[in-house]
Amino acid sequence: MHFLVTGTAGFIGFHLARRLVSSGHTVTGYDALTSGTGIELRRDRLKMLDMAGGFRGVTGRLEDFKTLSAAAEANPPQIVIHLAAQAGVRQSLDDPSLYVASNLAGTASILELARAVRPQHFIHASTSSVYGASGRPEFVETDPTDHPVSFYAATKKGAELLTHSYAHLFGMPVTVLRFFTVYGPWGRPDMAYYKFTEAIAAGKPIEVYGSGTQLRDFTYVDDLIWAICALLDRIPEPGKPVVAKGVVDSLSPVAPHRIVNIAAGRPEPLNRLIELIEQALGTKAIRRDLPAQPGDVTRTHASPALLKALTGYVPDTPLSEGIAAFVDWYRGHAGQ
Ligand code: NAD
Repeated sequence: MHFLVTGTAGFIGFHLARRLVSSGHTVTGYDALTSGTGIELRRDRLKMLDMAGGFRGVTGRLEDFKTLSAAAEANPPQIVIHLAAQAGVRQSLDDPSLYVASNLAGTASILELARAVRPQHFIHASTSSVYGASGRPEFVETDPTDHPVSFYAATKKGAELLTHSYAHLFGMPVTVLRFFTVYGPWGRPDMAYYKFTEAIAAGKPIEVYGSGTQLRDFTYVDDLIWAICALLDRIPEPGKPVVAKGVVDSLSPVAPHRIVNIAAGRPEPLNRLIELIEQALGTKAIRRDLPAQPGDVTRTHASPALLKALTGYVPDTPLSEGIAAFVDWYRGHAGQ
């Protein structure tokens, strides 16, 4: 099959495109290589993809509809996977307009393209951040998500709603995937696990916000990619909810549209993450404890029940193994 994947210079898009081409599919990758942290890493990821057969990379912004549609016209995709976004909670406070452009105008643009191309399935990346400061023990896809605590989350929630309107208006099957703190080799330098590893390896202090007791439902990137691939042919159909004991399907009552959490459902404290990085590097961290940051949530905890009902799969790489694999990659990549 032929795929259009946006955000292929990014962490998750790179891994996904690599997996798709190694399974015999072809991929048009679309990314603007937006400036910011990790630009060198993004170029390196694209170089790796360019070397793999079956991948064609196009550089352009989502909002540039002419370039985007030209990329798809050359080889219309059967499946569109929209991952490109301005990601990261903290930067959304510094430059909110970037988030509006990429996450809202950008999503509207790729939806408009999909309306013309009519893919069998449109898959859209969203985030656990949309649950906000949910007081619920586990985040279920049908929970209310009307109270985001970061601007990033507000734009991602807005984008989810845009996909629902297109699914309804144009009968376009859409699956929205909510990711939970994805980590692993080729990861994002702006995320805590990467920053901690970099600082501890260099003997520099790490900044730990909120005493490190906040809980995160970490997902190893290979597990995430496995789950996305397992969902490719689980196309939502109105009137056909997943019927399994105790599982609440998020299928829309009026559109071929479903939301699925991708996570293990096993939150771990940030302090445990730090401990595992220390063990993998064989170096103790120098900590600077600071107050919690605005926009941060104290806990993310997914219910993976719907993912399991749809695919039979739940992410299962232990944090210890995933962090060891990340630190191995980091040492090789950073030449340490
Ligand atoms: P990333 O920053 O590594 O990749 C995003 C890519 O999108 C970048 O290469 C960037 O250049 C590109 N991009 C941004 N704005 C663009 C625009 N306007 N036009 C074209 N390209 C643009 O992020 P990632 O971690 O790979 O995240 C992928 C998706 O998953 C995002 O939608 C993000 O919101 C979501 N997500 C990620 C995580 C995580 O832990 N990594 C968690 C929850 C949700």
